[in-house]
Amino acid sequence: MHAIQLDGVVKEYTSHGEVVQAVKGVTLDIAEGEFFSLLGPSGCGKTTTMRMIAGFEEPTRGSVRLHGEDVTNVPPNKRDVNMVFQSYALFPHMNVWDNVAFGLKQKKVPTADIQRRVGEILEIVDLKGREKRRPREMSGGQQQRVALARALVNHPRALLLDEPLGALDLKLRQAMQLELKRIQREVGITFVYVTHDQSEALTMSDRIAVMNDGLVEQLADPRTIYERPASPFVAGFIGTSNLLSGTAVAGVVKLGEGRVLVPGQDGDVTVTVRPEKITICPDRPEGEISAVPGKVDEVVYLGTYNSYTVRLADGAEVTVFQQNAVDATLTAERGDSVWLSWQPQHSYVIGS
Ligand code: ATP
Repeated sequence: MHAIQLDGVVKEYTSHGEVVQAVKGVTLDIAEGEFFSLLGPSGCGKTTTMRMIAGFEEPTRGSVRLHGEDVTNVPPNKRDVNMVFQSYALFPHMNVWDNVAFGLKQKKVPTADIQRRVGEILEIVDLKGREKRRPREMSGGQQQRVALARALVNHPRALLLDEPLGALDLKLRQAMQLELKRIQREVGITFVYVTHDQSEALTMSDRIAVMNDGLVEQLADPRTIYERPASPFVAGFIGTSNLLSGTAVAGVVKLGEGRVLVPGQDGDVTVTVRPEKITICPDRPEGEISAVPGKVDEVVYLGTYNSYTVRLADGAEVTVFQQNAVDATLTAERGDSVWLSWQPQHSYVIGS
């Protein structure tokens, strides 16, 4: 059974007499126990989509089903989902234990059950031994764990998380991404995660819906999204991509003196090739590979790798990443004329 189903969901707001469509028709299914991310730039409608799942917003059109039941007009407190926000929204005057136990006490759960459940969840989020601390005596990451424990302690069937790591610094955020994934696996609850951070979505998700301008542009697992982007927008939003356009004749696109191999293609195509798949060399390479000439505009040293910006004859820019492996030396310098090459399987024709 699907945990969450959205069918043709539209959300319109009226702002200063004008109708704004925040969500323009989203249809998707989220499986039970899945770690699912809504990913997209600011303003694309991901928060609005999540708020309709939670019940804080009512769709203008379309329906929301939770575990098979139509909840489109059911208020948030009658839905078996919880939400975690970026602002942790903890009670500042209560210690960790009381913050987590609060909802269960409200529901008049027997004291022995509260003891057991709060103890269990604090163990899972790795806060055992800190029960007596107050929020202000804890780091941002620890406070986020308390918020998570509080949302999980009453065993919701789905947990909705809206940019929950946004307030943390990069190192802590990366550590918490792995923690969240572990916790989700351990509790086995469906997680729906809103983020504009593509590496965060790639790290944690079973599947990702990439949103743009109120619509889902692609819904797939992280590897497919990265390696087989459905549109130029997805290719550009996830990682760094190079887009090359041209006309294919019998599987070959001629670009000046160079060529890009696109087996089986004919007609106008847009090809994406990732920076780490490209090799730089001074001379035209031999063999059945894609190869285009250009001039190095920029070389940036980035520690684990170098980033080259190479300009082709038609003005297009291509980014190339080269690992700084043991004994690596710079392959080319600014101003050098070079050839870029890659294997045919690393050209992906968008939309194919
Ligand atoms: P962010 O990452 O910045 O939070 P988002 O992808 O979550 O962005 P939403 O908050 O869902 O985007 O907003 C989508 C669009 O709907 C935006 O253009 C926003 O201005 C508009 N919008 C959202 N809420 C309202 C509202 N209450 N009234 C009018 N317009 C709204």
